Amino acid sequence: ERTRILVTGGAGYIGSHTCKALSAVGFEPVTVDSMVRGHEWAVQWGPLVKADIRDVDAMTATFEKYRPAAVIHFAAFIEVGESVADPATFYDNNVWGTLCLLRAMQRGNCPNIVFSSSAAVYGTPEQTPIREDHPLNPINPYGRTKLMMEQIMADFDPAYGTHHVALRYFNAAGADPDGGIGEAHNPETHLVPLAIGSALKTRGHLKVFGQDYDTPDGTCVRDYVHVSDLAQAHVASVRYLLDGGKSTALNLGTGTGNSVLEIIEAVHRAGGVAVPYENAVRRAGDPARLVATSTKAQSVLGWEPKYTDIDTIVQTAWRWHLSRKDA
Ligand code: NAD
Ligand code: UDP
Repeated sequence: ERTRILVTGGAGYIGSHTCKALSAVGFEPVTVDSMVRGHEWAVQWGPLVKADIRDVDAMTATFEKYRPAAVIHFAAFIEVGESVADPATFYDNNVWGTLCLLRAMQRGNCPNIVFSSSAAVYGTPEQTPIREDHPLNPINPYGRTKLMMEQIMADFDPAYGTHHVALRYFNAAGADPDGGIGEAHNPETHLVPLAIGSALKTRGHLKVFGQDYDTPDGTCVRDYVHVSDLAQAHVASVRYLLDGGKSTALNLGTGTGNSVLEIIEAVHRAGGVAVPYENAVRRAGDPARLVATSTKAQSVLGWEPKYTDIDTIVQTAWRWHLSRKDA
């Protein structure tokens, strides 16, 4: 029998890629997703339990039925702007949802959790590249929900023996190179899919948020990391915890920064079509530059990103968008 891993949010973007990666090395991913933002077509590598993580009875029954060795916890609301407009919904889903999940884990005797944190826990960085010991000072409710999740888990470890790996992703991008799954948020707010939609004319012109940042070309710089590399880091984190590894927090990025204009150029090269764009005002709460140092993930997990070239990352996203039937 394959070792089961319970994956909350497994019908979403990063979750579905992680289910595929788990399955490829012999784990059985069991997805729990309320489908509030998920896709049935993205669940291909194991069962789908349609449940909200806040439904403790449904979760308790799921733990009893599947007896997972570990949880990977993606389920959350993810959009910074929405979190500013409606923080109650974010604290409820992200923080209360995590507490409910941890309760169900305790009842189900499952002591291991890998979960999605974010570069948003750092807020506006004092220096880049950012290391894990950089001060944690989120500047919006979304980032605060992620920091609270980390703090809750840090308290649970000595009290209840729940071990965690907090993975602080920088900018997830790209799609499975084999096709079939990719980035499909609704509403979509991320740069790469919006730039592709602008080039393909399936969306309006891309708006470039701010041209006067203190960066080489004046637009914001981000660390774009391929979703399949993120997926591999989750597999490595599960193994680390199953081998008795200590609770830890790790950055996941490539260490390379790309500006908004560089992404626009990469999309142009990938598709052979220019990206129509217009200059727009800065988006509230966008730091000029967010780039990770991921040497800790390298030493703790042996993780190294395979897709380090922005052209390769964007090409996988472009191919996925051409193949999408629901785009
Ligand atoms: P996504 O929206 O594609 O996936 C999230 C999934 O969780 C969806 O399928 C949704 O239906 C499900 N979900 C939400 N609330 C739920 C609940 N209460 N019960 C059950 N299911 C629920 O998002 P994603 O881009 O795959 O992000 C996954 C995680 O990674 C999130 O926690 C997000 O905050 C974090 N993250 C993402 C990025 C990024 O660049 N996309 C960066 C940093 C962190
Ligand atoms: N961005 C932009 N236009 C858009 C969406 C994003 O100029 O329509 C910029 C945004 O200001 C940021 C970068 O692209 O500097 C990446 O934004 P995204 O929302 O993809 O990820 P974030 O960095 O907010 O996690």
